[in-house]
Amino acid sequence: MSPGGKDPGCTVVSVPLLPREKAARLPERARQVVEYRKSGLSLNHVQGCPLGCAYCIRHTYGLWDAQAPVALMPDADAVAELVGHRYFRPHATPLQIFNRATDPFLRGVKDHLFAVLEDLDGRGLANPVLIITRAHVRSADCARLNALRNLKVTVLFTYSGISDRRIEPFPGAVAVRSMCRATGYGTGDDPRRYRTVFYWRPLVPGLNDSPQLLARAAELSCQADAAVFTGLFYRGEIAEYYRANGIPEPYTETARRKIVPQTLERRILAAFARRPAGAAPLFRKTSCAISHVHGLPDYNGHYGIRELCDICPAAQLRLCASRHRVPDAAQLLDAAVPFPDAAGLRVLDVSDRAAIVDGLPDEQPRYYLQHRFAFQIHDAGHPHLPGQHGRAVIGYPAAGTAQEDRA
Ligand code: SF4
Repeated sequence: MSPGGKDPGCTVVSVPLLPREKAARLPERARQVVEYRKSGLSLNHVQGCPLGCAYCIRHTYGLWDAQAPVALMPDADAVAELVGHRYFRPHATPLQIFNRATDPFLRGVKDHLFAVLEDLDGRGLANPVLIITRAHVRSADCARLNALRNLKVTVLFTYSGISDRRIEPFPGAVAVRSMCRATGYGTGDDPRRYRTVFYWRPLVPGLNDSPQLLARAAELSCQADAAVFTGLFYRGEIAEYYRANGIPEPYTETARRKIVPQTLERRILAAFARRPAGAAPLFRKTSCAISHVHGLPDYNGHYGIRELCDICPAAQLRLCASRHRVPDAAQLLDAAVPFPDAAGLRVLDVSDRAAIVDGLPDEQPRYYLQHRFAFQIHDAGHPHLPGQHGRAVIGYPAAGTAQEDRA
């Protein structure tokens, strides 16, 4: 099928549709177009990105060389796969569109983004939807987002302040302009329905944490409904790329979780504390920001990990507290019964903070249970240490255990 043509389901195809035999030769994880990730069920039937961020997660999917976006299937088939997924719950499961292998607002890709959103919205679904971008978001895009009537849409604008073009070739000013335009959209007659988040990442000590850049980020965050900060996923494949291309390595070791050293976090919080009263609230966790901007309690149940909440607005804290329920082991096991991949689930402990489980083949059933109960479900094999906010141990006093956390 040619670019710009129509598929048999009348879905616009603006990036080339990969022939089946070529799609079948992609790495296994790249072929999995629906995947449950921590922030939701993620749809990725369009893959490939020319923006070239050195730390891109595409490295870990065997897709780094895929710079031209292609579609693995027509949009209608992809939506059918998403809503037919064993873990999809109408109106409830948080969804993410194209957050793994492309930028959803790239030219061509955005046609697929809107085809998916409009299909889901047309079904009357009210699920939360996350869209993460650093690309151009035009006024016409804002109008199309605002025409969605049912989905709870949040657009997250990625910004790091990194000026080293070997790490981020695409100018960060684009994301800033897009965010300002998207947040400023709407009138009294047609108020903005979607929400915006200043997505400040990846923060790396010595690279983009100067006092000037922290102050600039604090200022920019006022142009969104909420702000989130987070660190770098520094996986083995990404470290290899840095070394092969002579890019200074940000850390001497890799980790399976994001790295946000404790001293960096303290400096971030201090910079944000200097913002004017009433500025968009800052969160440590993406799901907290998403939930807040839609007036909902956190769907990941971070309220149980109470030290995460010390920067949260009081009204949001009350909302999360009012909905916090601690499931018992029997409820968790019952909820897992319909899913063959959760057959090995064992619940080792349940506290006010989290349930500790093992016996699962991967993270997907755990994330399903976490969202189903809005309660933290931790893998016994990867413990969450108090005060570390589910991050890598690098940069925390207990860094001697970093080996366990190695990617
Ligand atoms: S109260 Fe805690 S769990 Fe709820 S949104 Fe705030 S930080 Fe997140």
